[in-house]
Amino acid sequence: MSYDPSNVFAKILRGDIPSKPVYDSDHVLAFPDISPRAPVHILIIPKGAYTSAQDFSESASAAEKLAFFDAIAAIATQCGVAETGYRLIANTGANGHQEVPHFHLHLIGGRALGPMLPQD
Ligand code: AMP
Repeated sequence: MSYDPSNVFAKILRGDIPSKPVYDSDHVLAFPDISPRAPVHILIIPKGAYTSAQDFSESASAAEKLAFFDAIAAIATQCGVAETGYRLIANTGANGHQEVPHFHLHLIGGRALGPMLPQD
């Protein structure tokens, strides 16, 4: 899948759509999800044009990957969920129900989240 620069997170990165970043570094931006599913629901995105977790894993530089993983702990601490725990979700592709085609992690916490997936 080629990168679509009209996706909503590309617009946020360009400043075409406003956001309230909770974290901003050379390679990473994080901001609240517009439809939060829990008291803490932050989206963590690379600033590079990567369509998915698969694309990021295959194509991002070592510096981008390191910065992305470093950001997770910093954001969790800043949002007050480092001790109580949280869930990271990277919906990927069609079966993963990914809606926005710019790689992002959901960092979700602030309450007990229950089992990973609903039982069938
Ligand atoms: P996904 O299904 O993993 O692609 O999730 C995309 C997420 O982006 C959803 O949880 C949306 O609520 C969120 N979202 C869409 N537009 C915005 C926006 N302008 N600002 C913040 N979050 C957004």
